[in-house]
Amino acid sequence: MTPKSDAATPIDPVKLDRLAEVGVKVGLNLQPGQDLLLSAPVEALPLVRRIAVQAYEAGAGLVTPLLGDPELTLARFHHARDESFDRAAGWLYEAMGAAFDANTARMGVVGDDPMLLSNEDPDKVSRANKAQVMAYKPARERITSFAINWNLVSYPGAAWARQVFPDLPGDEAVHNLAEAIFRASRADTDDPVGAWTAHNAKLRERTDWLNEQRFHALHFTGPDTDLTVGLADGHEWMGGASVARNGVVCNPNIPSEEVFTTPHAQRVEGHVRATKPLSYQGTLIEDIRVRFEGGRITEASASRGEEVLQKVLDSDEGARRLGEVALVPHSSPISQSGLLFYNTLFDENAACHIALGQCYSKCFVDGDKLSPEQIAAQGGNESAIHIDWMIGSDRIDVDGVREDGSRVPVFRKGEWA
Ligand code: ZN
Ligand code: ZN
Repeated sequence: MTPKSDAATPIDPVKLDRLAEVGVKVGLNLQPGQDLLLSAPVEALPLVRRIAVQAYEAGAGLVTPLLGDPELTLARFHHARDESFDRAAGWLYEAMGAAFDANTARMGVVGDDPMLLSNEDPDKVSRANKAQVMAYKPARERITSFAINWNLVSYPGAAWARQVFPDLPGDEAVHNLAEAIFRASRADTDDPVGAWTAHNAKLRERTDWLNEQRFHALHFTGPDTDLTVGLADGHEWMGGASVARNGVVCNPNIPSEEVFTTPHAQRVEGHVRATKPLSYQGTLIEDIRVRFEGGRITEASASRGEEVLQKVLDSDEGARRLGEVALVPHSSPISQSGLLFYNTLFDENAACHIALGQCYSKCFVDGDKLSPEQIAAQGGNESAIHIDWMIGSDRIDVDGVREDGSRVPVFRKGEWA
């Protein structure tokens, strides 16, 4: 059965089906006979059902859903005994690792309330988080190293919609967030797969050009910003489609507008001011300003949420250094929406950004063959965190700086030069 458009529901069922198609055909590029492990909030069931149909039509072997629920999460925080907060379902993540070793693809549907835990005991939140991060390792390692094709798509959950559109009635907020997700995910056209093929080709042109240039550094200038980001030795620019180690070309993030690479952990100098607030685990950190010396943040302030920012910077040695630098034009559809999504998947695709913490081994030439020691020797940063924040706007210029000091304009007033 094919869904029909129905003005009475806040989420257009035709576009929702196209989003499922984008996730399966573009995001995962699911192969005939391949199994799929799908995690989603229970609220996203309408999308999960369409994904299952699209997956089986694409020849999926077995689709296995794992559903979560915010009420169940809160039940733990309100009623569980204290020891519960040092535990996590390690057996489940071991099994996920085994599934990935057997070439199961992975899709995650994002749509939870970004502020769900903002009123809970911060000690319990951080203990539960830590236990989860440790137990999830067998699954996370296979995902971040692209052992298999994987993908994230979004569903307009009601609590998330309320956060993005606080002044609108519930249904209208969900409708507006749904339309924003469809537009950003290119699910609002008749040929979403074709639109993604064209978009991926454009991103590829950018990464090919940047990889040819082999810049030594990028120099960002703009209001309260004069920042030189040295690039790691043997860095490689990535963006859009990626080849997983099982040979499948996938688009891990839907949407995706960025091209990104690895900065040199010791070669970042100058100061920068964030151009958008950072939403971090239920806290909004506004107007971040930092100074780098020798790659390390030596001064940091924020007009709101500064305490949380300082805590983040103190989480480990690598937390004060950069693991990613990304270029996104101001004209990107997400940027043009003018919305703050409180969700990195969207907000990092709205502006040029830098990320504190862990680098991606994939952003090195032959990165999957390098040991962690080689990556560190080439300037790759290591940390338990990876937090993106925005430094781009229509007032930012970026120059590429070559080894001999000569310069090439890369961005002018927020657009590709
Ligand atoms: Zn990024
Ligand atoms: Zn990032």
